[in-house]
Amino acid sequence: MAGIYLHIPFCKQACHYCDFHFSTSLKLKDPLVQAILKELEMQVDYLEGAAIETIYFGGGTPSLLSANDLEQIFTQIHRLYTVKPDAEITLEANPDDIHADQLQVWKTCGINRLSIGIQSFHEKDLAFMNRAHNAKEALACIQLARNAGFELLTIDLIYGSPVSSQAEWAENLEIFRNLELPHLSSYALTVEPGTALDQFIKKGKAPALDEEKAAQEFTYLISKMQEWGYEHYEISNFSLPGKYARHNTAYWFGTPYLGIGPSAHSFRPGFRQWNVANNPKYIKAIQADTLPFIQEVLSKDEQYNEYIMTRLRTQWGCAIQDIQDLGTAYFSHFRQQAAPFIRSKQLIQHQDAFILSPEAKFLADGIAAALFI
Ligand code: SF4
Repeated sequence: MAGIYLHIPFCKQACHYCDFHFSTSLKLKDPLVQAILKELEMQVDYLEGAAIETIYFGGGTPSLLSANDLEQIFTQIHRLYTVKPDAEITLEANPDDIHADQLQVWKTCGINRLSIGIQSFHEKDLAFMNRAHNAKEALACIQLARNAGFELLTIDLIYGSPVSSQAEWAENLEIFRNLELPHLSSYALTVEPGTALDQFIKKGKAPALDEEKAAQEFTYLISKMQEWGYEHYEISNFSLPGKYARHNTAYWFGTPYLGIGPSAHSFRPGFRQWNVANNPKYIKAIQADTLPFIQEVLSKDEQYNEYIMTRLRTQWGCAIQDIQDLGTAYFSHFRQQAAPFIRSKQLIQHQDAFILSPEAKFLADGIAAALFI
């Protein structure tokens, strides 16, 4: 069991809050696609012949790939890897790229799940974030995707916007509910160093973020999604029962995956590696038959920390057996560090695992850090 992630590092314009790796110049798109085709071949042994259960096109904006780009990539994947017939194949798409002809191309390629970067149904949020789409496109794209036969649809929504009210956040969620989608990913707006948003706030050109408001909107999100029958299966992810994102869930369960493209990460138990986050350097290295990655061998301590960090965010929590398998000293450390959170009922023992209480989910990163070695 394994997955492939492909990073497509191009965007039409830079969203003000974003610190992912992308370029707004599409000048290098063709050589980059050729480099991706070559890297797929160079890395063919990384997954040791494991069948591919999930393929994920992330970015950047993968919906900028042309029919020809996608056809070449899929031909190469199927030539070199064994893709299971029921594989989940996801493409991240922005609403302004979703048109009937493009949807047909994606269907023909075998893409069976779309992750749509809506972020908000309100014009003022979209303008504040500098998204390339408008509120009308945000709504229309869902119907277009459905008309084309896509049932596995998920959207992203951002809470904690300083330019909209809590009532407007509630409206975003109502719209989501009325769309009857199987899955939602929802993130707090954050200020990453060096982003345009960071600069605007520092210069007083944009309002600062209000953590308290974000926490209240997160709490509202959790309660509404629960009321509407969605499982809160990871801090930022909600699905109708069983409709989890298979690709991301596999990450959290330590399934090996191969990351292709600039800045893409790969993982095998005990090892992690990541490609250079620079399009020209990536292309040049691949053209010179070199894989431009840095590899890290994960120590036992790092494996423990990584396990706590990822699994604590999920509804499956940290399994006692998994921690014991790392060594009894790790479980002793976990028990000792977890004690105050167990007493405050932020951490709850559920069957054979420790999970976060709903109220503690907003504090997941801090609690995980306290449990680290
Ligand atoms: S479209 Fe996505 S990757 Fe591109 S700038 Fe916006 S948030 Fe970042």
